[in-house]
Amino acid sequence: MQIKPRARALAIPSAVVAVLIFLASCASTGVSEGGINLISADQEWSTREEMHAQVQREMRLVNDRSALDYLNTVGRRIAAQTPLGNRRWDFFIVDDSAVNAFNLPGGLVYVNSGLIAEADSLDELAGALAHEIGHGAARHGTQLMTRAYGYNLLASLALGRNPSQAQQIVAQLLGTGVLTSYSRSAERDADRLGVNYAYCAGYDPHGLETFLQELEGLRRSRPSKVQQFFSDHPLTEERVRNVDAEIARLPRHASLTHDTRNFQQFRSRFR
Ligand SMILES: [Zn+2]
Repeated sequence: MQIKPRARALAIPSAVVAVLIFLASCASTGVSEGGINLISADQEWSTREEMHAQVQREMRLVNDRSALDYLNTVGRRIAAQTPLGNRRWDFFIVDDSAVNAFNLPGGLVYVNSGLIAEADSLDELAGALAHEIGHGAARHGTQLMTRAYGYNLLASLALGRNPSQAQQIVAQLLGTGVLTSYSRSAERDADRLGVNYAYCAGYDPHGLETFLQELEGLRRSRPSKVQQFFSDHPLTEERVRNVDAEIARLPRHASLTHDTRNFQQFRSRFR
């Protein structure tokens, strides 16, 4: 009879400690901006409308309000964990059965309906979103654009002096796949950041790992579904190993979300 209250008294501090460790590890998730980037985050966010307008011209987007609300709730919860979390992030669904996703500068993330259909649980979708958010937070897109187009062109673009040029650039970026052909180290960064952001948002970070493993399986059973994904994201086995090692560094946290009924309802619209 005396043991119970004592056990209870011990349980509370250990939970507090767990939360403190969790908060400490989340606060320290930094972005190392390795590559040269001549574009500021402000400039990115000032061109996002142009960028998105061009995507709308090039791709068919899903116009399902409640599905988009759901996706944005999950996506923004993860984006809020990044150093750019105080800015506006928007998440869109591309009507395309291939499994793929991409990020554009200024907090824009696009997910194919085919990716949603293949994500078995909420943490897998969260992992894929978190990877793209990782690219966005590290600003890999404008790093690539800096390399490809130089400062003058991008500065005039950011100042809105030449909107038709902005459209042209985005069209080119989408067409040639420049924005999805990130370097190996950029992909590794996006995975590392993604694991941390998903975890800090309260999603089980194993989702990214199991999703990558599933895509590897699809490569054998339905290769056309994942062809684009693997040309943009090679070296899956190495990625799985790295993701696994990154997860192992995180303190265990009991209340991470693996799946929900809401997610399964959302996903069923795309199957
Ligand atoms: Zn990537």
